[in-house]
Amino acid sequence: MVDLVSQYQGLKKDIDSAMQEVTSTGAFINGPAVNQFALQLAEYLKSNHVIPCANGTDALQIALMALDLPEGSEVITSGFSYIAVAEVCMLLKLKPVFVDADNQTFNIDANLIEAAITSKTKVIAPVHLFGQPCEMEKIMKIASEHNLYVIEDNAQAIGANYTFSDGTVKKAGTIGHIATTSFFPSKNLGCYGDGGAVYTNDKELAAKIKMIANHGQQVKYIHDVVGVNSRLDTLQAAILGVKLKHLDKFIAERQVVAAAYDKAFSGHQNLAIPARQNNATHVFHQYTLKTCAMDIPAFKKYLETKGIPTMVYYPLPVFKQKAFNQSITLPVSEMLCGCVVSLPIGTDMDTEQINYITQTVFSFFEEVNKTLTNNN
Ligand SMILES: *Cc1c(COP(=O)(O)O)cnc(C)c1O
Repeated sequence: MVDLVSQYQGLKKDIDSAMQEVTSTGAFINGPAVNQFALQLAEYLKSNHVIPCANGTDALQIALMALDLPEGSEVITSGFSYIAVAEVCMLLKLKPVFVDADNQTFNIDANLIEAAITSKTKVIAPVHLFGQPCEMEKIMKIASEHNLYVIEDNAQAIGANYTFSDGTVKKAGTIGHIATTSFFPSKNLGCYGDGGAVYTNDKELAAKIKMIANHGQQVKYIHDVVGVNSRLDTLQAAILGVKLKHLDKFIAERQVVAAAYDKAFSGHQNLAIPARQNNATHVFHQYTLKTCAMDIPAFKKYLETKGIPTMVYYPLPVFKQKAFNQSITLPVSEMLCGCVVSLPIGTDMDTEQINYITQTVFSFFEEVNKTLTNNN
């Protein structure tokens, strides 16, 4: 779905020398590159505190641990999403409460959040799905009225901007009380292994997050709280330090691919192109088409035989997973799981590749229509 090798080739000189600097000093854990990268990311995001950790799922767990919530507290999140938020809730004996998604943006439907709030609700955890920020102004207003924390899962939308009605522009992940991110290789800012970060503007929360990520200690071998061991490797931090300088370019390149797909598929009778919000930028972690009028497995198989990978994010709603089995119904989330398919998108795709993909999608529909006509 993404060509990580060609991106590396373009940055090889800088990345190799950054890695070599780490290997030649031997500071593999907590080397200077880790703190340097944290400061560089804080500067990029305009966030006061960035705490690197081992991966994006740990980041969510650490963020929730820092809030010291009573057992059974409820965390409102989207039913159409990756598993991570729900999973860490269960591990921490918190209850994920799933709210349906918006049919257009795929994000949590902010209009349905208030109805899900109970006396046990403590957190709203919006996930900026596929690279487009949720309706944060509405979500922050609800959170402030009900005295709730907001944890943004920003694993897919790092670098996206959100504009408030007064014109203020903020980066996704700097709006709620805490945000989390993943540097998994295929993410928009990916390292060459696992990595993640938690960020916040709140000094006290930052200190707690830092302590929890480091075995609950501020002073070595003095453990004030029960924490975890979650670190970003120095090598990964060094790689990320190089790549972060190019993040805005990476995003622009993804947006070019998305615009080409949009142009090709808009108005197509069987396909809906991803909706854009006019108060947010879309960084296209995924380019996701919606199509309820076709056989998605056949579509995937057809493209696969032509050498084009596709993915369904996500084929089964979180609340329907055996691990979480909740007897609820969320019609939009359930419908979307059967109607979405994501096309390859990345930073080094040329016009020829994009044209090949769009032409192959068209030829799938031509063949389907031919078969239908023949059968009639
Ligand atoms: C990738 C991802 C995560 C988890 O990140 P890992 O680094 O793989 O643990 C969490 N939430 C979302 C929305 C993601 O896309």
